[in-house]
Amino acid sequence: MNSPVAIYVHVPFCPSKCGYCDFNSYALAGDIVGRTVEAMLAEIRRSPWRGRPAKTIFFGGGTPTFLDADCLTALLDAVVEAHPPIEGAEITSEANPGTVDQEKFRAMTRAGFNRISLGAQSFVPEDLLRLGRVHGAADVGHAVRAAREAGFANLNLDLMFGLPGQSSRAWRQNLDLALSLKPEHLSLYCLTIEPDTRFARLDRRGMLDLPDEDAQVEFYDLAVACTGNAGYEAYEISNFAKPGYECRHNLCYWRGEEYLAYGPGAVGCFAEPAGLRTRYTNQKHPERYCEAIESAGDLWCASESLDEGVLRTERIMLGLRLREGIDHLPSLDPHALASLRSRGWLEPEGARLRLTPAGRHFCTEVAAALI
Ligand code: SF4
Repeated sequence: MNSPVAIYVHVPFCPSKCGYCDFNSYALAGDIVGRTVEAMLAEIRRSPWRGRPAKTIFFGGGTPTFLDADCLTALLDAVVEAHPPIEGAEITSEANPGTVDQEKFRAMTRAGFNRISLGAQSFVPEDLLRLGRVHGAADVGHAVRAAREAGFANLNLDLMFGLPGQSSRAWRQNLDLALSLKPEHLSLYCLTIEPDTRFARLDRRGMLDLPDEDAQVEFYDLAVACTGNAGYEAYEISNFAKPGYECRHNLCYWRGEEYLAYGPGAVGCFAEPAGLRTRYTNQKHPERYCEAIESAGDLWCASESLDEGVLRTERIMLGLRLREGIDHLPSLDPHALASLRSRGWLEPEGARLRLTPAGRHFCTEVAAALI
């Protein structure tokens, strides 16, 4: 099969570990960084999927911009050689505002990146300190201006709400500041406390003053209202875009399409000839990953076959997050559908079903009822 596919590249390094983070990221430096980049180049060059065109390329992490411009360029060159991008392909890199400058952004646009996603998280210095971010509040504006001057015409800002001690007024100010920077796209996620993080330990000791559920609902509604007034569409529960600037890479995930992935801990999902899918996870720790590549050993630490039942479940769970919703499948329970519609959580849209604005607060419950 040679159809265009989404390509993900995982860079597992960060300058330090944020208190809430459970991503596959490591605050490592020294030889392991260059060794990992070499191993990633080898993985891409030996890929069994070489030749499949890229419809999107996404460098995530970790912090891709922890790497210097030469490493980022070499990695993107290798991906482009293995997966020639289709005309107009979206090529994104995540970036931490504390790890970029105009020179690096210029090198990235020269290399072919055409979309940048900045992890701003908050404009309040105390929030950033508490979260363990390495950048200051002013760095976000500097990074946006540097990215624009380097030629990035498609820019996302990530912000989090529901932060410890956050008031509705503070969240509103964060939204206003983000909107004043005129990004084409905003990702606005509620802070979740993941097990085995510093925040989980603080929370267990009662040391995180987290906003309650009602406040989280209020913050979310505020985000929808402010972004809507500013001309953004809530095309996914947590993602807001100016028309035409929806993240095409993430849409591939939410629509249940294939994606190929490279790098430590990267997760890919490809179609098998019988119509099923295989999902795989690369060795997570950079050391294990390098050893596997260098010894031509087993690169995957996990893999699973996804049968039709699992694929259906995932299509419902992820598709409901999208404004476009899901196909009105004949297998959906008519009693569950009637109940969800009578509660005002679900509505038909042509041949599709989607959450109502009220239903967006109950996405998990709706998905569970339909599954
Ligand atoms: S920058 Fe992102 S990936 Fe790195 S530790 Fe912080 S939240 Fe995790």
